[in-house]
Amino acid sequence: MDLNTKNLWLFDVDNTIIRDVEHPAPFPDALHLCETLEQKGKTIAILTNVGRLSARQIHTAVTTAGFSVDADKTFSAGAVAAAYIYSRSPGARCFVISEGGALEDFVARGLNVTNNPPIDFVAVGADRNLTFQQLNFACKMVMKGAALVCISGSRDYPGVYLGHEDVFIGERSIAAAIEDATGKSAFIIGKPLPEIFTETVKTLRFDVTESVMVGDNPASDVAGGNAAGLTTILVKRSPDKIVPYDAGDLDTIPDIAVESLDEVINLLSIVSRE
Ligand SMILES: [Mg+2]
Repeated sequence: MDLNTKNLWLFDVDNTIIRDVEHPAPFPDALHLCETLEQKGKTIAILTNVGRLSARQIHTAVTTAGFSVDADKTFSAGAVAAAYIYSRSPGARCFVISEGGALEDFVARGLNVTNNPPIDFVAVGADRNLTFQQLNFACKMVMKGAALVCISGSRDYPGVYLGHEDVFIGERSIAAAIEDATGKSAFIIGKPLPEIFTETVKTLRFDVTESVMVGDNPASDVAGGNAAGLTTILVKRSPDKIVPYDAGDLDTIPDIAVESLDEVINLLSIVSRE
């Protein structure tokens, strides 16, 4: 496979190009690869499962870390979930559990975000401020027929909150509480859901056959990228920073696995000389 024929390069964020959004130090090999791709005229975009920051906030974090990415090519889990709901039901009334990021994404997409019934969608993002009242209201709305959407699918994730570094319960765990209380199942919108990859590629006006997904996580970046027909590149980073996701029976074997993204630069230069 000649990577030079690939025109759209989608990058994961946490543990792939920066340590994580709360420690936004860039990985030098990721900076080198993005600079090389930019010189070759390739399109770089971001596809992250982070939902606690909005696409705008994630764009600020990655550009501050030194990456040159356009704001309209930055897709957070919240932005992707909002686009997914909007494309199917533009006037939907949404109750959003969110630390702020997903809420901003839903408002930015033009969805009707409200805390009052009737509610069409209960959308659950990671939220370290979640109250009993919000959780109880979400359960009542799902009982009354609102669809339950989980914005990405992490059960827990490492981060910093109010100066406290820890592992925190994620959106999947909050949605599981609502599922348990209501007997209804959540629909997870985020990697590895293959539609997220195909819709992002389509939004950017490319084809999956000319698109690459680069990430650290076999169960999200690789599984979804493979299922959607993209070329997948796995970069091996800190194993303890890989957030667990449920890949079901999707194929988690990448097309290319590297210890460093500098190896991808070598692959691009070798093939282009042939
Ligand atoms: Mg990651």
